[in-house]
Amino acid sequence: MPLDDPSIGRQRFADPGFRPLSRVGLSFDDTFVPADHEISDGGSGLAAQLADFDFTRALLGLMVLGAARRAMDSTVDWVRRREAFGAPIATYQGVSFTLAEWDTQLEAARWLCYRTLGLRAAGLPHTREAAMCKWWAPRIAVQAINDCIVLHGHVGWSTEMPLQQLLLDVSGLQIGDGTPQIQKLVIARQLIGREHVG
Ligand SMILES: Cc1cc2nc3c(=O)[nH]c(=O)nc-3n(C[C@H](O)[C@H](O)[C@H](O)COP(=O)(O)OP(=O)(O)OC[C@H]3O[C@@H](n4cnc5c(N)ncnc54)[C@H](O)[C@@H]3O)c2cc1C
Repeated sequence: MPLDDPSIGRQRFADPGFRPLSRVGLSFDDTFVPADHEISDGGSGLAAQLADFDFTRALLGLMVLGAARRAMDSTVDWVRRREAFGAPIATYQGVSFTLAEWDTQLEAARWLCYRTLGLRAAGLPHTREAAMCKWWAPRIAVQAINDCIVLHGHVGWSTEMPLQQLLLDVSGLQIGDGTPQIQKLVIARQLIGREHVG
């Protein structure tokens, strides 16, 4: 529909993340949609949208993992240079093992996203895998970026560093395209059966 139609309203959200892009809500109040404006046959729009989610959920997974990887790269550089108690903080296993653990988990989640996209490209079912990408990748990305902030000490928390902004950007993607609870419902339905899970 043309967005200047008087029945269509717009609302800008005061989001803390994705600030260069921003987010708006569109409301349709008794909007009349002419038949030649329909993008699918009557009744098939929801199915088309849900099929798109199986694609965007994998992409959002890669997006948040990319943000977390940026935070990790910056932290690796920092722990090599920052000295405390007479040595670079990278020499303390409390620091280096934290980064090793996130390196492992971020890499594993990335391959889950690739597998989901591979299944899609092959025309095979991938709803379950896409839901896994959508709840797991944002969760570990948030946790990894948060640890990167802590490993930077006070400077990491400052808005003069990009880490807080990365955290705010990624935290919204825990919710957009479906919350973790809804993704787990999708997975449980596929795993156990909708008739058992509800
Ligand atoms: C960054 C971002 C981008 C977004 N992009 C878009 C977009 O492009 N298009 C669009 O239409 N929307 C978009 N949204 C909106 C988003 O899809 C919804 O906010 C999200 O699906 C949750 O819906 P809700 O806010 O109504 O929460 P609610 O449905 O009110 O849920 C509130 C809480 O209850 C939980 N809950 C609800 N039902 C159940 C259940 N059955 N079982 C267990 N827990 C449940 C939820 O998981 C959540 O934790 C975006 C949101 C964000 C933050």
